[in-house]
Amino acid sequence: MARYCGPVCRLCRREGEKLFLKGERCFTNKCAVERREGGPGQHGRGRQSYSDYKVQLREKQKVKRSYGLLEKSFRKYFERAARTKGVTGTQMLVGLETRLDNIVYRLGFGISRRQARQMVSHGHILVNGKRVTIPSYAVSVGDVVEVAEKFKKHPMVNAAMESAQSRMIPEWLSLDKQGVKGTVSALPTRDQLSQSINEQLIVELYSR
Ligand code: SF4
Repeated sequence: MARYCGPVCRLCRREGEKLFLKGERCFTNKCAVERREGGPGQHGRGRQSYSDYKVQLREKQKVKRSYGLLEKSFRKYFERAARTKGVTGTQMLVGLETRLDNIVYRLGFGISRRQARQMVSHGHILVNGKRVTIPSYAVSVGDVVEVAEKFKKHPMVNAAMESAQSRMIPEWLSLDKQGVKGTVSALPTRDQLSQSINEQLIVELYSR
């Protein structure tokens, strides 16, 4: 599946906030958002206009980039949510959160979603004991996600788990550190998801 391969700090600078796309570096003073003011490119520091459309577009871009998706796949989450019972914005966020690569990242097995995605596509992740290589695989309640036996002692996994100690494991996931595995105990509720996202703006943008 296609993915963005360009410089990721540029994406954070465009959105004007940290999207935590690089793992450990994002928590240091090397972070480009902290070091450089304004957006990327020669007009990055220019005067900004704020129409309703622009505010909605930036919110959508921010969320899409945080999860490392391109437009086509991101829009599918909205369309699926719109067909599902419940609040469309929340359903869309739940769909994004229950992607396998995101769960691997949330459990702390990968230092960033990008690394987690690579672990999945390289076959290092098992769901209920079976290898799954599709990063967008939708994990269900009760599923057990674990790092493959051969990869459990890998320095990359150890480093990621150590670094994740400063990050909170979401309440809807339970982690078995020794076994390097985790279980999805429940689907997340809106108050357990990021409060910095205004998903209503994304719904309004796609409903135009
Ligand atoms: Fe974004 Fe991390 Fe780069 Fe900072 S270091 S700009 S948070 S990807």
